Amino acid sequence: MNKSKIAGGLWGLLVGDALGVPYEFNPPFRLPEFSNIEMRPPANFSRSHRGVAPGTYSDDGAQALCLLDSLFENNCLKVEDFASRLVRWRTTGYLAVDGVVFDVGTHTDMVLHAIAEGVPPLQAGMRDLSSKGNGSLMRVLPLTLWAHQRLTDLDLVGLACLQSQVTHGAITCQLCCALYCLWARYILHGVPDAWTVAKVNLADILDSPELLAELDDLFHELDHAPSGSSYVVDCLRSARYAVETSSSYEETVRKGILLGYDTDTTACVAGGIAGILYGVEGIPQRWIDAMQGPFPTTSPQGDGKLPKDMPSTTGSSFPFPTTSPQGDGKFFALILTRFAPPR
Ligand SMILES: [Mg+2]
Repeated sequence: MNKSKIAGGLWGLLVGDALGVPYEFNPPFRLPEFSNIEMRPPANFSRSHRGVAPGTYSDDGAQALCLLDSLFENNCLKVEDFASRLVRWRTTGYLAVDGVVFDVGTHTDMVLHAIAEGVPPLQAGMRDLSSKGNGSLMRVLPLTLWAHQRLTDLDLVGLACLQSQVTHGAITCQLCCALYCLWARYILHGVPDAWTVAKVNLADILDSPELLAELDDLFHELDHAPSGSSYVVDCLRSARYAVETSSSYEETVRKGILLGYDTDTTACVAGGIAGILYGVEGIPQRWIDAMQGPFPTTSPQGDGKLPKDMPSTTGSSFPFPTTSPQGDGKFFALILTRFAPPR
């Protein structure tokens, strides 16, 4: 398994999210030109999330880290544990840059509030099946990165759907998460035409006529023109458009952002795939250098940046105290050793 591609998937989604943050909500005609899409937008551009430092990932990245955190900690997907980490992110800023939560989707906010009040996660996420936002798609990629060779396609599909159900129970959301995970997995494994193979194999895995009818509808919708919105199907086809019309990580995420509107999530979903495709070396160093880490600038870890000098082993040599405001430190030892840019 290519470690660079796995690291590229995680960094690719975080960098894509951060790159898209200042451009969010804008229609395409208001955006800077292609070559000016950077972490710090041109001076004459009115950026979104003005109080947020360039290089800050948003809810997408934080929730993806919550999923990865939970997977490492439990060595499986435990819904209650994953949901509790999402609630912890929402209420205390866990795994958010500087502990500051922003850009929270209204549906996700409502569901996490219900979970915090004691509603079981799967009940909370299944309450409103009309919500078809991209909130579960944007965070699901760590499942593929973590699972790589330890799960069958069937298991991966099942877990992708299950993680969606915590906040987004609509079948469309679940199927998009499953298709995205298979697409990412086949790219990770070097399968030619990974998108088509993912579609075919997902159809093989689903065994009920009702689900196959839903999948058929989804496939038709995925062929429509992309428009960068937060609708889960549009988000996936926007990401696919960006990936399939580009030949580098940089081109992929910029093209995703230039669709406008939900720019951070489009670039996050496309960036995760592009990070796998081109490896972590394919992500511009200036963007990785610009990334803000989840550590408060006042913490013992230092300046708030994602550390570039990675420890070679986990355990006692890990430099971050387990008493840090962000949690147990153990998770970051794993992140840094398994997902470190190799340079
Ligand atoms: Mg966001």
